[in-house]
Amino acid sequence: MPELSQVGEFKLIRELSRGISANASIIKGIGDDAAVTVPGSPDLCNLFTVDMLIENIHFRRSQPPELVGRKALSVSLSDIAAMGGRPGFCLVSLGLPADLDLDYARALYRGLRATARRWNCTLIGGDTNRSLRIIISVSVSGTVRSDRAVYRSGAKPGDQIFITGSIGAGPSGRHLRFSPRLKESAFLTENFSLNAMIDVSDGLFQDLSHILEASFCGAVIDPKRIPLAKGAGSLEKAAAAGEDFELLFTLSPDQGDRLMKDWPFPRVRLSRIGSITAGRGLSLSQGSGRVRKIKPQGFSHFKPGRTWFE
Ligand code: ADP
Ligand code: MG
Repeated sequence: MPELSQVGEFKLIRELSRGISANASIIKGIGDDAAVTVPGSPDLCNLFTVDMLIENIHFRRSQPPELVGRKALSVSLSDIAAMGGRPGFCLVSLGLPADLDLDYARALYRGLRATARRWNCTLIGGDTNRSLRIIISVSVSGTVRSDRAVYRSGAKPGDQIFITGSIGAGPSGRHLRFSPRLKESAFLTENFSLNAMIDVSDGLFQDLSHILEASFCGAVIDPKRIPLAKGAGSLEKAAAAGEDFELLFTLSPDQGDRLMKDWPFPRVRLSRIGSITAGRGLSLSQGSGRVRKIKPQGFSHFKPGRTWFE
Protein backbone atom coordinates (compact mmCIF):
# COMPACT_ATOMS: atom_id res chain seq x y z
CA MET A 1 0.00 0.00 0.00
CA PRO A 2 1.30 3.47 -0.86
CA GLU A 3 2.17 6.16 1.64
CA LEU A 4 -0.01 9.26 1.71
CA SER A 5 2.86 11.28 0.20
CA GLN A 6 2.38 9.23 -2.96
CA VAL A 7 -1.40 9.49 -2.94
CA GLY A 8 -1.97 13.24 -2.66
CA GLU A 9 -4.71 15.21 -0.92
CA PHE A 10 -7.44 15.12 -3.50
CA LYS A 11 -7.20 11.43 -4.28
CA LEU A 12 -7.15 10.74 -0.54
CA ILE A 13 -10.32 12.77 0.04
CA ARG A 14 -12.00 10.90 -2.82
CA GLU A 15 -10.90 7.57 -1.33
CA LEU A 16 -12.13 8.42 2.13
CA SER A 17 -15.47 9.85 1.11
CA ARG A 18 -16.43 6.99 -1.19
CA GLY A 19 -19.85 5.49 -0.60
CA ILE A 20 -21.15 8.19 1.71
CA SER A 21 -24.88 8.42 1.19
CA ALA A 22 -26.77 11.68 1.24
CA ASN A 23 -30.27 12.25 2.58
CA ALA A 24 -33.14 14.59 1.81
CA SER A 25 -31.93 17.33 4.14
CA ILE A 26 -28.54 17.57 2.41
CA ILE A 27 -28.41 19.81 -0.64
CA LYS A 28 -24.63 19.50 -1.01
CA GLY A 29 -22.35 17.20 0.99
CA ILE A 30 -18.65 16.65 0.30
CA GLY A 31 -17.32 18.36 -2.83
CA ASP A 32 -17.87 22.10 -2.62
CA ASP A 33 -16.47 24.91 -0.48
CA ALA A 34 -19.05 24.29 2.23
CA ALA A 35 -21.81 21.76 2.82
CA VAL A 36 -25.39 22.93 2.34
CA THR A 37 -28.32 21.55 4.37
CA VAL A 38 -31.95 22.60 4.73
CA PRO A 39 -32.90 24.35 7.97
CA GLY A 40 -34.70 22.25 10.59
CA SER A 41 -38.24 22.86 11.76
CA PRO A 42 -38.81 25.90 14.02
CA ASP A 43 -39.51 23.85 17.15
CA LEU A 44 -36.01 22.32 17.02
CA CYS A 45 -32.78 23.75 18.39
CA ASN A 46 -29.42 22.99 16.81
CA LEU A 47 -26.65 21.34 18.81
CA PHE A 48 -22.94 21.62 17.93
CA THR A 49 -20.02 19.81 19.49
CA VAL A 50 -16.42 19.02 18.56
CA ASP A 51 -13.78 16.66 19.96
CA MET A 52 -10.20 15.91 19.04
CA LEU A 53 -8.14 12.75 19.31
CA ILE A 54 -4.35 13.14 19.16
CA GLU A 55 -1.91 10.29 18.62
CA ASN A 56 0.06 9.39 21.78
CA ILE A 57 -2.29 11.42 23.97
CA HIS A 58 -5.62 9.71 23.26
CA PHE A 59 -4.55 6.67 21.28
CA ARG A 60 -1.52 4.83 19.93
CA ARG A 61 -0.85 4.00 16.30
CA SER A 62 -0.71 0.32 17.27
CA GLN A 63 -4.40 0.37 18.24
CA PRO A 64 -6.86 -0.74 15.53
CA PRO A 65 -7.56 2.29 13.30
CA GLU A 66 -11.21 1.25 12.78
CA LEU A 67 -11.74 1.55 16.52
CA VAL A 68 -9.94 4.90 16.69
CA GLY A 69 -12.27 6.17 13.93
CA ARG A 70 -15.28 4.78 15.75
CA LYS A 71 -14.24 6.47 18.98
CA ALA A 72 -13.44 9.80 17.31
CA LEU A 73 -17.09 10.11 16.29
CA SER A 74 -18.64 8.34 19.28
CA VAL A 75 -17.28 10.80 21.84
CA SER A 76 -19.17 13.64 20.12
CA LEU A 77 -22.29 11.50 19.70
CA SER A 78 -22.14 10.92 23.46
CA ASP A 79 -22.24 14.71 23.93
CA ILE A 80 -25.29 14.96 21.68
CA ALA A 81 -26.95 12.19 23.76
CA ALA A 82 -26.11 14.07 26.95
CA MET A 83 -28.05 17.12 25.70
CA GLY A 84 -31.07 14.94 24.90
CA GLY A 85 -30.59 15.37 21.16
CA ARG A 86 -30.24 13.29 18.04
CA PRO A 87 -27.31 13.53 15.65
CA GLY A 88 -27.52 15.13 12.22
CA PHE A 89 -24.25 15.77 10.43
CA CYS A 90 -20.53 15.46 11.04
CA LEU A 91 -17.36 17.08 9.68
CA VAL A 92 -13.94 15.48 10.08
CA SER A 93 -10.62 17.32 10.19
CA LEU A 94 -7.57 15.13 9.76
CA GLY A 95 -3.90 15.74 10.37
CA LEU A 96 -1.96 12.86 8.86
CA PRO A 97 1.81 12.21 8.60
CA ALA A 98 3.05 12.03 5.01
CA ASP A 99 4.61 8.61 5.57
CA LEU A 100 1.37 7.10 6.91
CA ASP A 101 0.09 4.13 4.96
CA LEU A 102 -3.03 4.71 2.86
CA ASP A 103 -4.43 1.54 4.43
CA TYR A 104 -4.37 3.18 7.85
CA ALA A 105 -6.40 6.17 6.64
CA ARG A 106 -8.86 3.87 4.90
CA ALA A 107 -9.36 1.76 8.01
CA LEU A 108 -9.81 4.86 10.16
CA TYR A 109 -12.56 6.02 7.81
CA ARG A 110 -14.18 2.58 7.70
CA GLY A 111 -14.69 2.88 11.46
CA LEU A 112 -15.90 6.45 11.15
CA ARG A 113 -18.32 5.76 8.30
CA ALA A 114 -19.77 2.64 9.94
CA THR A 115 -20.37 4.57 13.16
CA ALA A 116 -21.92 7.48 11.26
CA ARG A 117 -24.25 5.14 9.40
CA ARG A 118 -25.25 3.29 12.56
CA TRP A 119 -26.32 6.50 14.31
CA ASN A 120 -27.80 8.33 11.30
CA CYS A 121 -25.16 10.99 11.31
CA THR A 122 -24.10 11.97 7.78
CA LEU A 123 -20.52 12.94 6.97
CA ILE A 124 -20.83 16.14 4.96
CA GLY A 125 -17.26 17.43 4.86
CA GLY A 126 -13.91 17.87 6.45
CA ASP A 127 -10.39 19.08 6.02
CA THR A 128 -7.21 17.13 5.30
CA ASN A 129 -3.72 18.28 6.23
CA ARG A 130 -0.22 16.97 6.70
CA SER A 131 0.98 16.88 10.30
CA LEU A 132 3.67 15.27 12.44
CA ARG A 133 1.31 12.93 14.26
CA ILE A 134 -2.21 11.71 13.60
CA ILE A 135 -4.89 14.18 14.68
CA ILE A 136 -8.60 13.57 14.21
CA SER A 137 -11.11 16.27 15.04
CA VAL A 138 -14.78 15.45 14.58
CA SER A 139 -17.54 18.07 14.69
CA VAL A 140 -21.10 16.85 15.08
CA SER A 141 -24.34 18.74 14.76
CA GLY A 142 -27.66 17.53 16.07
CA THR A 143 -31.13 18.68 16.94
CA VAL A 144 -33.25 18.66 20.05
CA ARG A 145 -36.83 19.76 20.60
CA SER A 146 -36.46 23.17 22.19
CA ASP A 147 -38.43 22.15 25.29
CA ARG A 148 -36.39 18.97 25.74
CA ALA A 149 -32.76 20.10 25.80
CA VAL A 150 -31.18 18.91 29.05
CA TYR A 151 -28.51 21.11 30.61
CA ARG A 152 -26.03 20.58 33.44
CA SER A 153 -27.66 23.42 35.31
CA GLY A 154 -31.15 22.12 36.13
CA ALA A 155 -30.59 19.79 39.11
CA LYS A 156 -32.83 20.52 42.14
CA PRO A 157 -32.49 19.58 45.81
CA GLY A 158 -34.36 16.31 46.36
CA ASP A 159 -33.66 15.02 42.82
CA GLN A 160 -32.56 11.43 42.50
CA ILE A 161 -29.26 10.83 40.69
CA PHE A 162 -29.01 8.08 38.07
CA ILE A 163 -26.26 6.60 35.93
CA THR A 164 -26.50 4.20 32.98
CA GLY A 165 -24.17 1.21 32.55
CA SER A 166 -21.11 0.87 34.74
CA ILE A 167 -17.93 2.81 35.37
CA GLY A 168 -14.23 2.00 35.42
CA ALA A 169 -13.88 -0.15 32.28
CA GLY A 170 -12.26 2.59 30.19
CA PRO A 171 -8.63 1.74 30.92
CA SER A 172 -9.16 -1.95 30.09
CA GLY A 173 -10.16 -1.08 26.52
CA ARG A 174 -13.83 -0.19 26.56
CA HIS A 175 -13.00 3.45 25.85
CA LEU A 176 -12.38 2.40 22.22
CA ARG A 177 -15.54 0.33 21.86
CA PHE A 178 -18.29 2.10 23.73
CA SER A 179 -21.65 2.90 22.16
CA PRO A 180 -23.01 6.39 22.70
CA ARG A 181 -26.20 6.25 24.79
CA LEU A 182 -28.40 7.82 22.11
CA LYS A 183 -31.29 5.34 22.38
CA GLU A 184 -31.34 5.61 26.15
CA SER A 185 -31.26 9.40 25.96
CA ALA A 186 -34.16 9.43 23.47
CA PHE A 187 -36.21 7.18 25.75
CA LEU A 188 -35.46 9.35 28.76
CA THR A 189 -36.31 12.68 27.15
CA GLU A 190 -39.46 11.35 25.46
CA ASN A 191 -40.90 9.87 28.66
CA PHE A 192 -39.48 11.86 31.57
CA SER A 193 -38.56 15.40 32.33
CA LEU A 194 -34.90 15.28 33.22
CA ASN A 195 -33.62 18.15 35.32
CA ALA A 196 -29.89 17.81 34.49
CA MET A 197 -27.66 15.52 32.45
CA ILE A 198 -23.98 15.08 31.51
CA ASP A 199 -22.00 12.28 29.89
CA VAL A 200 -19.31 10.79 32.11
CA SER A 201 -16.06 11.38 30.25
CA ASP A 202 -13.71 12.72 32.94
CA GLY A 203 -14.71 10.45 35.84
CA LEU A 204 -17.99 10.04 37.73
CA PHE A 205 -17.24 12.36 40.64
CA GLN A 206 -15.70 15.11 38.52
CA ASP A 207 -18.58 15.10 36.03
CA LEU A 208 -21.14 15.01 38.83
CA SER A 209 -19.36 18.05 40.25
CA HIS A 210 -19.93 19.84 36.95
CA ILE A 211 -23.68 19.32 37.42
CA LEU A 212 -23.47 20.44 41.05
CA GLU A 213 -21.54 23.62 40.23
CA ALA A 214 -23.80 24.52 37.30
CA SER A 215 -26.91 23.86 39.43
CA PHE A 216 -25.63 25.54 42.65
CA CYS A 217 -26.31 22.48 44.79
CA GLY A 218 -24.64 19.44 46.33
CA ALA A 219 -25.10 15.66 46.39
CA VAL A 220 -24.92 12.63 48.66
CA ILE A 221 -23.90 9.42 46.89
CA ASP A 222 -24.28 5.89 48.24
CA PRO A 223 -20.96 4.25 47.31
CA LYS A 224 -22.52 0.77 47.48
CA ARG A 225 -24.83 1.69 44.63
CA ILE A 226 -22.15 2.86 42.21
CA PRO A 227 -22.08 0.30 39.37
CA LEU A 228 -18.46 -0.81 38.99
CA ALA A 229 -17.45 -2.57 35.78
CA LYS A 230 -15.69 -5.94 35.96
CA GLY A 231 -12.01 -5.39 36.63
CA ALA A 232 -12.51 -1.74 37.50
CA GLY A 233 -10.65 -2.07 40.80
CA SER A 234 -11.48 0.20 43.73
CA LEU A 235 -14.30 2.71 43.72
CA GLU A 236 -11.79 5.59 43.90
CA LYS A 237 -9.94 4.30 40.87
CA ALA A 238 -13.13 3.64 38.87
CA ALA A 239 -14.67 7.01 39.69
CA ALA A 240 -11.53 8.87 38.62
CA ALA A 241 -10.67 6.85 35.50
CA GLY A 242 -12.96 8.63 33.05
CA GLU A 243 -13.90 7.64 29.49
CA ASP A 244 -17.02 5.78 30.64
CA PHE A 245 -19.36 7.68 28.30
CA GLU A 246 -22.38 6.81 30.42
CA LEU A 247 -25.27 9.19 31.06
CA LEU A 248 -25.44 10.77 34.50
CA PHE A 249 -28.73 12.59 35.16
CA THR A 250 -31.16 13.79 37.80
CA LEU A 251 -34.93 13.51 38.10
CA SER A 252 -37.57 14.48 40.65
CA PRO A 253 -38.28 11.61 43.12
CA ASP A 254 -41.69 10.66 41.67
CA GLN A 255 -40.25 10.54 38.17
CA GLY A 256 -37.24 8.61 39.45
CA ASP A 257 -39.45 5.92 41.02
CA ARG A 258 -41.37 5.56 37.75
CA LEU A 259 -38.12 5.31 35.78
CA MET A 260 -36.82 2.47 37.98
CA LYS A 261 -40.01 0.53 37.13
CA ASP A 262 -40.17 1.40 33.42
CA TRP A 263 -36.53 1.18 32.27
CA PRO A 264 -36.81 -0.79 28.99
CA PHE A 265 -33.17 -1.69 28.27
CA PRO A 266 -32.41 -5.05 29.91
CA ARG A 267 -28.80 -5.02 28.72
CA VAL A 268 -28.01 -1.56 30.06
CA ARG A 269 -27.88 -1.27 33.79
CA LEU A 270 -29.60 1.66 35.44
CA SER A 271 -28.46 2.67 38.93
CA ARG A 272 -29.93 5.19 41.33
CA ILE A 273 -26.81 6.26 43.15
CA GLY A 274 -27.85 9.16 45.38
CA SER A 275 -29.65 12.45 45.64
CA ILE A 276 -29.17 16.18 45.18
CA THR A 277 -28.93 18.36 48.30
CA ALA A 278 -29.37 22.08 48.89
CA GLY A 279 -26.04 22.21 50.78
CA ARG A 280 -23.05 22.42 48.42
CA GLY A 281 -20.32 19.83 47.99
CA LEU A 282 -20.14 16.12 47.27
CA SER A 283 -20.42 13.50 50.04
CA LEU A 284 -20.46 9.72 50.29
CA SER A 285 -22.91 8.14 52.72
CA GLN A 286 -21.23 5.87 55.25
CA GLY A 287 -24.26 4.11 56.70
CA SER A 288 -26.26 4.99 59.83
CA GLY A 289 -26.76 8.57 58.61
CA ARG A 290 -23.07 9.52 58.51
CA VAL A 291 -21.50 11.14 55.43
CA ARG A 292 -17.92 11.82 54.31
CA LYS A 293 -17.09 14.82 52.13
CA ILE A 294 -14.94 14.05 49.11
CA LYS A 295 -12.95 16.06 46.58
CA PRO A 296 -13.48 14.78 43.07
CA GLN A 297 -10.44 13.44 41.24
CA GLY A 298 -10.72 12.94 37.53
CA PHE A 299 -9.08 13.42 34.23
CA SER A 300 -7.85 16.86 33.34
CA HIS A 301 -5.60 17.83 30.48
CA PHE A 302 -2.40 19.78 31.26
CA LYS A 303 -1.98 17.94 34.57
CA PRO A 304 1.23 15.96 34.17
CA GLY A 305 0.84 12.26 34.76
CA ARG A 306 -2.88 12.23 34.18
CA THR A 307 -3.11 11.51 30.47
CA TRP A 308 -4.04 8.03 29.40
CA PHE A 309 -0.66 6.97 28.10
CA GLU A 310 1.80 8.78 30.32
P1 ADP B 1 -11.43 23.92 0.53
O1 ADP B 1 -10.00 24.10 0.09
O2 ADP B 1 -12.41 24.73 -0.25
O3 ADP B 1 -11.60 23.98 2.00
P2 ADP B 1 -10.93 21.13 0.41
O4 ADP B 1 -10.11 20.80 -0.77
O5 ADP B 1 -10.31 21.19 1.75
O6 ADP B 1 -11.79 22.42 0.11
O7 ADP B 1 -12.10 20.04 0.51
C1 ADP B 1 -12.85 19.67 -0.62
C2 ADP B 1 -14.08 18.94 -0.18
O8 ADP B 1 -13.72 17.76 0.47
C3 ADP B 1 -14.91 19.74 0.82
O9 ADP B 1 -16.27 19.44 0.58
C4 ADP B 1 -14.49 19.18 2.15
O10 ADP B 1 -15.51 19.32 3.10
C5 ADP B 1 -14.21 17.73 1.79
N1 ADP B 1 -13.19 17.12 2.66
C6 ADP B 1 -11.89 17.47 2.80
N2 ADP B 1 -11.25 16.66 3.66
C7 ADP B 1 -12.18 15.78 4.11
C8 ADP B 1 -12.17 14.70 5.02
N3 ADP B 1 -11.06 14.35 5.70
N4 ADP B 1 -13.30 14.02 5.23
C9 ADP B 1 -14.43 14.36 4.57
N5 ADP B 1 -14.51 15.35 3.70
C10 ADP B 1 -13.41 16.07 3.45
MG1 MG C 1 -10.32 22.90 3.25
